[in-house]
Amino acid sequence: MDQLSLLWELQKYDEELNQLIDKVKKAETAKNIEEFELKLNQLEYDICNFKTKVDVDNEKIRRHSKKVDEFNFRLKDIEEKLYSGDITDLNQIQHMNKEIKNLKDLIEELEFEMLALMEDIENIKVKLIDLENDYKTYRQKLDSAKDQRSKNIKELTDLIKEKEELRNEFMKQIDEVLIQKYKAIKARKVKALVKISDDKCTGCHMNIPLTIVSKLKKNDDIYYCDNCDRILLYVKKQ
Ligand SMILES: [Zn+2]
Repeated sequence: MDQLSLLWELQKYDEELNQLIDKVKKAETAKNIEEFELKLNQLEYDICNFKTKVDVDNEKIRRHSKKVDEFNFRLKDIEEKLYSGDITDLNQIQHMNKEIKNLKDLIEELEFEMLALMEDIENIKVKLIDLENDYKTYRQKLDSAKDQRSKNIKELTDLIKEKEELRNEFMKQIDEVLIQKYKAIKARKVKALVKISDDKCTGCHMNIPLTIVSKLKKNDDIYYCDNCDRILLYVKKQ
């Protein structure tokens, strides 16, 4: 194989390697992992909010219950005095009856609110069970997606390493100066070496002067496209 044909093969190795590197990049930014993380954040936020709501409701119930105890205590006190028969003043009796009614209303109102709060807590707890189950499910999905990603990346990087070794071994057959030129062009262009087709550079589609084409047909010296600076390869027709 002449030097340019070897370089052509080297370019194929590099193209394969680039494709593998692209695959690694794609694997690294796995879309499903992003989605699962987003979903988990949302669930975490909802769970936290509902838990806070339960705490707030429980605190309200505790305060209401304390008030109910206080009111009951006062109620009992008034009722005892009223039924003891010691109080004979009609106005005072009326006032006490009014207070008893007032306290009973307040207690009823508080107890009603407490029941509503308890019901609210029960509903939230049902929702929390669902949310926590969802959380577990998405956690597992995320973990397995991450495992799969690591596995994919590991397989790809192993393959890259293998290909690189083959490429490096293959490269030893090619003249060092040519390799350096190839690398310099490759730093700027995807393809450093292009074929000539119908006397045109297939890199930039410009015509190649016939003098160059005929020189390329005769020997395997290195010629560059005047327009795009790529190395030209003339493939003899079969
Ligand atoms: Zn060109």
